[in-house]
Amino acid sequence: MSDEKQSCWNCMFQQIGGDTFLGICTYFSTIGKSNKDITPTVVDKGCKFWSKKQGQ
Ligand code: SF4
Repeated sequence: MSDEKQSCWNCMFQQIGGDTFLGICTYFSTIGKSNKDITPTVVDKGCKFWSKKQGQ
């Protein structure tokens, strides 16, 4: 098990798939905006909307 360091990889909003290697962030769709591509600068540290993915 990893420590629970915040990153997009353990965020419930990350969705792997589509055109992008790092996945897309679905957080914005929860507030009525479009999904965004996750960028390399964000993926390893997450963002202020980070929320721990459940069930892992
Ligand atoms: S950008 Fe933020 S909200 Fe989106 S997957 Fe990464 S940590 Fe989660």
